[in-house]
Amino acid sequence: MKIYIDGKYFSENNAKISVFDHGLLYGDGVFEGIRAYNGRVFKLEEHIDRLFDSAKAIMLKIPMSKEALMKATADACWRNRIRNGYIRLVVTRGKGDLGLSPTNCKKATVIIIAAGIKLYPEKMYRRGLEMITVPTMRMPAAALNPAIKSLNYLNNILAKIEAQQCGVLEAIMLNSEGYVAECTGDNVFAIRGGRIRTPPVYAGALGGITRQVVFQLAREHLGVEVEEVNMNRYDLYTADECFVTGTAAEIIPFVKLDGRVVGNGKPGEMTRRLIQAFRELTQEEGYPIRP
Ligand code: PMP
Repeated sequence: MKIYIDGKYFSENNAKISVFDHGLLYGDGVFEGIRAYNGRVFKLEEHIDRLFDSAKAIMLKIPMSKEALMKATADACWRNRIRNGYIRLVVTRGKGDLGLSPTNCKKATVIIIAAGIKLYPEKMYRRGLEMITVPTMRMPAAALNPAIKSLNYLNNILAKIEAQQCGVLEAIMLNSEGYVAECTGDNVFAIRGGRIRTPPVYAGALGGITRQVVFQLAREHLGVEVEEVNMNRYDLYTADECFVTGTAAEIIPFVKLDGRVVGNGKPGEMTRRLIQAFRELTQEEGYPIRP
């Protein structure tokens, strides 16, 4: 594997950054998880835009243009012979001293890792996941806005641990008002009576790229506009169909939440059509990897 750090490529063993990098010391930085399908990087421009928005929100200057970063991402895939895979783009605050202040960090560090991906097994897409709601609530926007995809994921990691302690793979996180925010690394959708709903970003969700793709697919393939509305657990328990979305998970149904069976306990018809449409789209479009 050849890993990109600040314009140069390093072998996995030599791809190292300073222990004084504030990305390590404080989780001070931003990142993106991106997929490549069929020789193209899926929704690359959207990911780069979100990365720059996250960076702007934390006053981090990315030392490259958007165009240069898109080219570098495709190049990292090309050099690693990745046609289908997962790309991790990380921009840290850079090397500083032991103080919190980012002013001593002279230059941000840009890292691109183009790798394979470990997927949920295919049978989980056919059968659906089981999830629980966890006690750890999603960070309030006034503390650290979940719309920022920062390197500080401890809030999500604590929720993930709680899910795993209960023997499930994903968790629903609520906000401080008790409304559904999102999962530890995915957005949440519920369908009832043919209407598709998802929490608004202000409920404490990341503006997911896959979430946005579902808006488009629902409109084009099901003739339905997704509604962004506050939801509570009752709305998920009583839904006909539920699913989560994320770059790594794609679109995956969940059929049990907190011991309640969702709908008839099987992935629903609308969810299955969205999964199918999503798979077709990922094969068709994207930023070409071949130079
Ligand atoms: N929420 C969180 C907290 C995430 O980390 C992610 C990305 N893994 C998502 C939602 C889904 O976003 P996307 O579809 O852009 O991957």
